[in-house]
Amino acid sequence: MSKDLRGLGVSAGSVAGPALRLGSPPKLPDVEPAVTDTEAEAGRAVAALEEVGEFLNGRSSAASGQAADILAAEAMMACDPALAAQVRSLAEAGRAAAWAVSEALAAYREMLTSAGGYLAERAADLDDIADRAVALLLGEPMPGIPAPGHPYVLLAADLAPADTATLDPAAVLAIVTERGGPTSHTAILAKTLGIPAVVACPRALSVAEGTVVAVDGSTGAVVVEPTAEQVKQAARRSAERAARLAAARGPGLTRDGHPVKLLANVGGPADVPAAIAAGAEGIGLLRTEFLFLDRHDEPSGKEQRDTYAEILGGMRGRKVVVRTLDAGADKPLAFASQEAEPNPALGIRGLRLDALLPALLDTQLDALAHAAKDTGADVWVMAPMVSTPAEAAAFADRAHGHGLPVAGVMIEVPAAALCAAQIVDQVDFVSIGTNDLSQYTFAADRQAGALASLLDPWQPALLQLIAMTATAGRTAGKPVGVCGEAASDPLLAVVLVGLGVSSLSMASPSLAEVRATLAGRTLAQCKAAATAALTAADPAAARACAED
Ligand code: PEP
Ligand code: MG
Repeated sequence: MSKDLRGLGVSAGSVAGPALRLGSPPKLPDVEPAVTDTEAEAGRAVAALEEVGEFLNGRSSAASGQAADILAAEAMMACDPALAAQVRSLAEAGRAAAWAVSEALAAYREMLTSAGGYLAERAADLDDIADRAVALLLGEPMPGIPAPGHPYVLLAADLAPADTATLDPAAVLAIVTERGGPTSHTAILAKTLGIPAVVACPRALSVAEGTVVAVDGSTGAVVVEPTAEQVKQAARRSAERAARLAAARGPGLTRDGHPVKLLANVGGPADVPAAIAAGAEGIGLLRTEFLFLDRHDEPSGKEQRDTYAEILGGMRGRKVVVRTLDAGADKPLAFASQEAEPNPALGIRGLRLDALLPALLDTQLDALAHAAKDTGADVWVMAPMVSTPAEAAAFADRAHGHGLPVAGVMIEVPAAALCAAQIVDQVDFVSIGTNDLSQYTFAADRQAGALASLLDPWQPALLQLIAMTATAGRTAGKPVGVCGEAASDPLLAVVLVGLGVSSLSMASPSLAEVRATLAGRTLAQCKAAATAALTAADPAAARACAED
């Protein structure tokens, strides 16, 4: 008899294989040893953190793109001088090294968790640093990915970036985690590596080691001890998928020739080759934060211009939609100190930061306009976190004034979707950020795994807001894109096209599946799926109607 588990499918593909758990973290013994030489103990504790930093830097060099950046950021945390000072003072006060490390990192974790949002998501990084350093100090093996010498399905409560980033897709058939949401590190990196993944899957760790599981990274179904027929089905689906993806090439089109631009989400120059290789028709979201976060000084206009030109040149004439800096509050800038906010996600972030630091946006727009001229590229620019038509109008004026002819805004606040018609009047295009639009529509922190069902992009209320925005764009004859994670779900992509969305932007590895799925449906089928999903009672019903 097979028992189903269900989570949220975040990276497509279907496989079956034996389950193995992530190596468990070390446990501090009940009795803390007495320390005689506190100075030497402090040295041992700090050295362990440095060794973890070196280990993470090594993994960062072995990885590439976003994975390398995430690991480098974690290595920086491990080597943070303030952390070392805290650990040293605990050890000098008589705590044993492993206990000093554990206590200092627990205090940091508490600080990050109470800040909420993006910072709270970094708590997993701190746990990882603590586990690795404590294991070193106790003389235990570092916790992490098993290496049994055969392919397996990896089960974990959650995965630290250090683990996910260096996963070998040939060894790890699929990932199933109990925690994590659709926008967690695990989800984004699994997609980038092309490993099927299911997150927010309760009881995943109750599966005994070695038990065969069949995982479907599209539907989120995890079948424990599948029948021989179910294993065959998984293999069949996987082979069909590979053949379908290989057959779909060229620009995005429905079966009857309705064009839908398929674009890539890019987080820096390192992501450009993958976008080209995946046949992206351009970039639909260039997240420019990579230039600003984790730095002590604002990047100069010249540095920005050169980096934008590198990316624009790499896209060889294809359209590039650049989003201006989406920082502030939960993604703080070291060079722009702001007062702590009680609700960072509802605070001064995105375009709102302009009221405090207007020169930041002017420098960015100017650098972008010069890079566009340097390369002759087709550059569109858009602002994040826009709430009103007045903000949209002011941004478009500013961008046009800098010589950027195509200016738009993101629709990621419910107020903006409700006023989409007035906003569309003020700009040249809009792009819907479904990650934040979900978060604000459902009052559910986008990083909170426990709220994953509210953040499910199939929620009919979210679809209603997308429909209002798409209708506003169609009426005004202006493009409406989707650049949140929703665009990378192939069946949801069909619904989005049916709602009237004109372009879809996603992580490059998702493009082939979306392209193939659209190529198999007519526009009339997309519209029928959209109408059914809009009026469904809940996400599961919306998905089922669309499938029908
Ligand atoms: C979004 O909110 O959907 C989006 C694309 O922006 P980000 O994920 O960078 O906030
Ligand atoms: Mg957003």
